[in-house]
Amino acid sequence: MYELKVIVRFAAAHQLKMVAQKCENLHGHNWKIEACVAGEHLNSAGVLMDFGELKGHVKAIVGRLDHRFLNESEGFSDEMPPSSENIAAWIAERLQAAIRQPGVRVTRVRAWESEDACAQYVVPAGGSPA
Ligand SMILES: [Zn+2]
Repeated sequence: MYELKVIVRFAAAHQLKMVAQKCENLHGHNWKIEACVAGEHLNSAGVLMDFGELKGHVKAIVGRLDHRFLNESEGFSDEMPPSSENIAAWIAERLQAAIRQPGVRVTRVRAWESEDACAQYVVPAGGSPA
């Protein structure tokens, strides 16, 4: 199996009400997103999929979060708070829908909210993200 990873960054604000820590206050992060896709077969050029195309998809998706207040952004709510965990799953779901190439699937997305803390969403094999 071959796996590709691209990295895209965005800045946004969020507020996590259920965390009895400083995250309860409105604050922002410069998130670093790592998105991975995998597949078994390479095309005639010897690549799984074009990096530019993959990065374009991730940039377009992340662009919908950039410089936003995530709690009020599409797909997030009190039931689906914009934690790094949920952001990773949110991106994985939309990335899989954007990739039209047969045999290429999103395997995982990591959302780094600081240099030393990230949440990873691993897409279940054969299943779509929650
Ligand atoms: Zn935070």
